[in-house]
Amino acid sequence: MADSSDRFLASRLSHVEHVALYRKNLRLVCPRCRRVRILNAAGTWWLFTQRRWNDSLKDASQRFHCGACYEAGHGRIRPAIRITDEDETPGHQLPPPPERDWRRLVSRYRS
Ligand SMILES: [Zn+2]
Repeated sequence: MADSSDRFLASRLSHVEHVALYRKNLRLVCPRCRRVRILNAAGTWWLFTQRRWNDSLKDASQRFHCGACYEAGHGRIRPAIRITDEDETPGHQLPPPPERDWRRLVSRYRS
């Protein structure tokens, strides 16, 4: 993805909710070990909704930490989060939102 379109998206899609609606994903990179995990944005939105967390992309990294660094005794390293078109990382994915809740979100944005 080019830098300019990256910046455009970052300015438009400021919350996990927006990223999910645009059917993009979230790219989490550990600043320490550079491990990358691509999370499904719809699943992430649903997790944040259920827990009533603020889904601003600025604050979302506080809800994640690098599992590898944590197990190695480096504490909870917060990842850098970016919007991506890449496919989600197989394995440990968040469950998708129930159809009913997803449709409610989509219709809220259509009106
Ligand atoms: Zn790490």
